[in-house]
Amino acid sequence: MPRLCSSCHRRSPDGVANIYWAYYPSSDNRVSYRGSYCPDCINDHVTPILTNSTDNSEVDVGTQCAICGIDAQDDTQWLYGTAYIPGRESIGLESVLCSSCFATMQAWVITSGKRLPDRASPARREGVTSPVWALLAG
Ligand SMILES: [Zn+2]
Ligand SMILES: [Zn+2]
Repeated sequence: MPRLCSSCHRRSPDGVANIYWAYYPSSDNRVSYRGSYCPDCINDHVTPILTNSTDNSEVDVGTQCAICGIDAQDDTQWLYGTAYIPGRESIGLESVLCSSCFATMQAWVITSGKRLPDRASPARREGVTSPVWALLAG
């Protein structure tokens, strides 16, 4: 069934992969997006991250940027994701990127994806009065 790619906006006869992205602008601030991508866009933007994710136990990424391959050392940024690719199990992504590749990916994720509501932060949960609600909020 053709599905619309949220990056190139073309109908993909081969279906789309859904990816949930997350990154942390600061340690208590989580930003997440969801995008649906055709195979071409996955190939152009996500394949390096899929193959160099720390979730792939055969690869020791260290501080090497998953996209450009430079040793980012103190300049590392983390990009997280869960990819739902047709015909496969979901894939957890945890990628080390240099700040320049991270900025490029972040811009693409923002323009091609849809912002998801923030998860309740611990600070916000303190406003929850009923212990039942607090429990359900996890
Ligand atoms: Zn596309
Ligand atoms: Zn890089």
